Amino acid sequence: MGFTRVMVMLIRFTKLVWSSVRKLGVWGGNAPNTVNSHLMGSQRVGPWYLQEPLYLQWKQWDCRSDCRYHCMLAREEEREKLGGKPVKYHGKWLFHRAYGFQEPVSVALSALNLAFQFHGWVSFFILIYYKLPLTPSKKTYYEYTGLWNIYGILSMNSWFWSAVFHSRDVELTEKLHCSSAVALLGFSLILAIQRAFSVRNEASRVMVSTPVIAFVTTHILYLNCYNLDYGLNIKVCVAMGVTQLLIWAVWAGVTHHPSWSKLWVAVVGDGLVMLLEIYDFPPYHGFVDSHALWHATTIPLTYLWWSFAKDDAEFRTSSLLKKAK
Ligand SMILES: [Zn+2]
Repeated sequence: MGFTRVMVMLIRFTKLVWSSVRKLGVWGGNAPNTVNSHLMGSQRVGPWYLQEPLYLQWKQWDCRSDCRYHCMLAREEEREKLGGKPVKYHGKWLFHRAYGFQEPVSVALSALNLAFQFHGWVSFFILIYYKLPLTPSKKTYYEYTGLWNIYGILSMNSWFWSAVFHSRDVELTEKLHCSSAVALLGFSLILAIQRAFSVRNEASRVMVSTPVIAFVTTHILYLNCYNLDYGLNIKVCVAMGVTQLLIWAVWAGVTHHPSWSKLWVAVVGDGLVMLLEIYDFPPYHGFVDSHALWHATTIPLTYLWWSFAKDDAEFRTSSLLKKAK
């Protein structure tokens, strides 16, 4: 009697394990379909003991993403042999991973951009607080110091998340990357407006910034909470980028700023590299695509922008001191 009961329990347990294994899609006749449904969905469902550890999910070296990656590699090789051109998978080109990084070239270039932003910001900081004279109340004469400081911090934040996103492309890193880039673009638009129109008084500064901040916040909330619409985001970013470049270019020409030539080179350069974002070509040898090239070209432009900020600080300080005498 006891033996029969044990046998029934064993059979039931085996059935339960078997059905769980089949649900996971690693065994059995329906495996390809199940794996496919796992690939299409973004959630890892099921009880905790059937899920992969968190660190594996983060590193994306789990069964699902590895299968997806190797499937795409095999598919691309086949296409190449048959003379076909590379195609996008889930809206993105296929990159060859290196040392666990998904897009190694873009990661390295983002890190380099971050380093150049840091260098530019530190050299601006040293110039303004230690080399140029300060007011008796220990403030800078240059009225836009705070704006450039915030710009530097937002830029570094943006490049940091860009490096993280290109290392691991998951929903969270994509949202953080998009949001920080939009915040930076919105803030640099505020900086352009305030510098070009010489907005110095606090009340006018608040009046000018509020609509831009409201718009940027709404757009970030829309991307994060409603729909991460890539096409719409590109349009919003290009619109904000083009507006600020036009403001800088016209202002430099009209006011004959001493560093107008530097500003124009930066503006034309930024306009040209924006084309790289729009003209999208597949990664060369699986590594360098138009986006990676764009990250390479922003490095000298970063240097140029900070060089202009330092020139502007010197120019404003000296003209304010001349006025005071
Ligand atoms: Zn990027």
